Amino acid sequence: QDQQDLVITEKPKETFEDVGGLEDVKKKVRLNFILPIKQPEVFAAYGKEVGGSILLFGPPGCGKTFLARSIAGEIDANFLHIELQAILSMYVGQSEVNLHDLFERARENKPCVVFIDELDAMGGSRNQMRQHHDRMLVNQLLLELDGIQAHNSGVFVIGATNTPWYIDSALRRPGRFNHMMFVQPPAEQERETILRLKLANKPVGKLDLGQIAKHTKYFSGADLEQLVRDAVERALERTLETGEIQPVEQADLLQAAKRRKATTLEW
Ligand code: ATP
Repeated sequence: QDQQDLVITEKPKETFEDVGGLEDVKKKVRLNFILPIKQPEVFAAYGKEVGGSILLFGPPGCGKTFLARSIAGEIDANFLHIELQAILSMYVGQSEVNLHDLFERARENKPCVVFIDELDAMGGSRNQMRQHHDRMLVNQLLLELDGIQAHNSGVFVIGATNTPWYIDSALRRPGRFNHMMFVQPPAEQERETILRLKLANKPVGKLDLGQIAKHTKYFSGADLEQLVRDAVERALERTLETGEIQPVEQADLLQAAKRRKATTLEW
């Protein structure tokens, strides 16, 4: 498999303003990642380096990937998405080389946010051969993280997992993924914000998003996005029928909320 297949390098347009809620996480990221880039002199005074790594964990669909992209957007950095599963499926030896190449590419494209998805995939194996393979890859990743820490390289590594309890403990030591942050399901107020964000620039009637937020307990950001899509579809149907642009109404959202199921409960 070609390493080109494993990654996308791009410059995301999203910023923190597009991410609803998660204020604590944003604050920590601002302090550790964004300010050091924007005001390096302040951080130099404290002897703090630019770059580093954090681990985002939480149920699916609550914005880990979205947040990572928006961090890149905030600092106008490149974004490199590494799908660990694909790397793990390679031959022993090849995975490590590829991981190294990817980090090389990040350094060449700095500032760069490296997003490593499914970090838990590296450590869950029962099979002995696979365990050995995993160990080699964990070691390679540790080397890369240490290198980034040591060289002030402008490379930011963001790991993500739905199952933090499967993360290899060596990866969580100081200097590695030592910032662990919970990307939690949105609370009521945050759900309202996310709904507002997803409805922005769409034709809408008089809406009470607070009511929808109340009715969508345990919905993830992705669930809410889907709910809005459903509601928009209903308005589109009416538009087709009448031949005139029809706004999204409260009833559309309520109906969609009833049909959709919250996905964060099973986590
Ligand atoms: P997984 O663990 O399955 O990879 P994830 O936590 O990475 O999930 P995302 O892919 O970031 O979830 O979220 C899916 C989509 O849901 C995003 O593209 C975004 O549109 C929307 N979304 C999720 N959380 C938020 C949020 N807090 N604010 C705005 N949009 C959100």
